[in-house]
Amino acid sequence: MGLAKRRFDALIIGAGGAGLNAAIQLAGREARVAVVSKVFPTRSHTVAAQGGVNAALANVLPDNWHWHMFDTVKGSDYLGDQDAIEYMCREAIPTVYELEHNGVPFSRLDNGKIYQRAFGGQSQNFGGAQAARTCAAADRTGHAILHTLYQQNLRARTHFFDEYFAIDLIRDDDGAILGALVLEIETGEPLLIEAKATVLATGGCGQAFRTTSNAHINTGDGMAMALRAGVPLMDMEFYQFHPTGIAGKGMLITEGVRGEGGYLVNKDGERFMERYAPNAKDLASRDVVSRAIVTEVKEGRGCGPNGEHVLLKLDHLGEEIINKRLPGIRETGKIFAGVDAVREPLPVFPTAHYAMGGIPTDRFGRVLAPIGTGEEVVPGLYAAGECACVSVHGANRLGGNSLLDILVFGRAAGLDLMQHMESNHRPMSEAAVDKAMSRLERWDRKGDGISVRELRDEFRKCMEDHAGVFRTEEIMDEGVARLKALRDQLDDVRLQDHSRVFNTARIEALELENIMACGMAIAVSALHRRESRGAHSRPDYPSRDDANWMKHSLYLLDGDRAEYKPVQTRPLSVETFPPKERVY
Ligand SMILES: Cc1cc2nc3c(=O)[nH]c(=O)nc-3n(C[C@H](O)[C@H](O)[C@H](O)COP(=O)(O)OP(=O)(O)OC[C@H]3O[C@@H](n4cnc5c(N)ncnc54)[C@H](O)[C@@H]3O)c2cc1C
Repeated sequence: MGLAKRRFDALIIGAGGAGLNAAIQLAGREARVAVVSKVFPTRSHTVAAQGGVNAALANVLPDNWHWHMFDTVKGSDYLGDQDAIEYMCREAIPTVYELEHNGVPFSRLDNGKIYQRAFGGQSQNFGGAQAARTCAAADRTGHAILHTLYQQNLRARTHFFDEYFAIDLIRDDDGAILGALVLEIETGEPLLIEAKATVLATGGCGQAFRTTSNAHINTGDGMAMALRAGVPLMDMEFYQFHPTGIAGKGMLITEGVRGEGGYLVNKDGERFMERYAPNAKDLASRDVVSRAIVTEVKEGRGCGPNGEHVLLKLDHLGEEIINKRLPGIRETGKIFAGVDAVREPLPVFPTAHYAMGGIPTDRFGRVLAPIGTGEEVVPGLYAAGECACVSVHGANRLGGNSLLDILVFGRAAGLDLMQHMESNHRPMSEAAVDKAMSRLERWDRKGDGISVRELRDEFRKCMEDHAGVFRTEEIMDEGVARLKALRDQLDDVRLQDHSRVFNTARIEALELENIMACGMAIAVSALHRRESRGAHSRPDYPSRDDANWMKHSLYLLDGDRAEYKPVQTRPLSVETFPPKERVY
């Protein structure tokens, strides 16, 4: 077949923080690197990260990486792998300094050191007083980091394929990944990219839910590509709802607002977090605060005409602090809630925010898949960033730990890949290429039928109703059945006005398939886990059950099955943090 083909040493799919930090390791060492992104690189979702990145620099309050490690293990509700967590917390410190040296304009303290703010779940001395560990560039940290990484990649001559959409991985009969089929969005021309190693760095899948803080592009494409290549998704039931999205809309109001001294109140003006988390109050971990808000609203203490949200008060911080530390938040409040945060509190409610689960990898970014009774590295495939699950976040991620995760493990993947690129290119078989092409050709269907939009809206609404903050067997059972029925309707979808809207209609259809694959993984994994842990809250099984459920779940596309594997409780050099009750 006459498909155009390009050949590189490494193919990186995704130009967010994870993809760009992997690319820079390689390009700097003279490898031929292709980075494919469906949007212009600096529009990746990393650009929207507000609050900051964690590292125990101890610039504001005493700190060290071991305390950071403890907080992350506890925050994960003991489901995170402690070897990976130790590695990440140690690497945090050189990672932030490397960013600084590469040009990230961090906010500064009067003594010239990097400014650090308090975030939820941070403590000194293994659970003691609040720590201040989040390094920030005002409330636009992701913007500063992403632009810096992009510029450094331009300097290193990374080859960018901007506005190319990755359709599927190309996998040979032995299971090795040989590259991917991509589509140039502007022309609609498919292109094969062959590579010795491929990195999935495609970000999260927040678009599986109706109300989300995520960008439109976060449709879980990489996660779905992995599933189709026979790789399971790990711990997908653990989806984080950020406590403070703009009510009814979902745009994020950073936890940094509460870190700077903002707090939540109900309709009686009560600072209700004092009841739910007497010590940490508004800076308890995200799952705890989200459940508290939903409970306040359910029990009739919500604000607004229909009592459907609570209020985030920050006017007492004063205009000067708000303008200096939280300028983006003031802007977001004005645009999306019609509220000036300097004068009035912001209406907030939990919003779908972050996938703790994803493509299972080891701490070198190598993708793992069950083979027989064991687990093996998938030859030629890496994953890093929000689409991956190392796992450092376990059942709940702490604020400021995701930017850290994408940088540390993006870099680790780039470095590991560099060492294992010796092997020669293997030719792609015609059958493997045809299989990927058939996914594209399927979306030549025009005419009357369900529209992508209708089906997508229904699916996302169903996810919100049946896989949200609180989940019971009954709600979940019904949800999984409905989601499956919606997935079956994919065959009835027709692209409307195809001739006029050109390729975007096809891309939206391909994205819908991916959203559905991720949504099913979340719902099926959640139905099976009969305990409450971290972000997964089951009123019918209200306690954490370490005897039966101290294990990672694996969702397999084939038969919508769930399997399990052990948690790595042994760190690299320090003692294990054994499971304890998690209170804030
Ligand atoms: C509003 C908001 C605020 C946040 N604030 C913070 C914070 O303060 N601190 C923190 O630690 N974390 C924060 N997070 C989380 C964190 O920003 C993300 O988890 C992280 O940036 C994800 O980075 P990534 O590199 O994995 O993916 P992304 O930055 O999402 O990039 C994904 C890339 O993949 C590409 N891509 C996807 N699919 C395809 C495809 N099919 N073909 C080609 N390219 C594709 C996209 O074009 C993009 O380049 C925030 C998240 C949100 C949504």
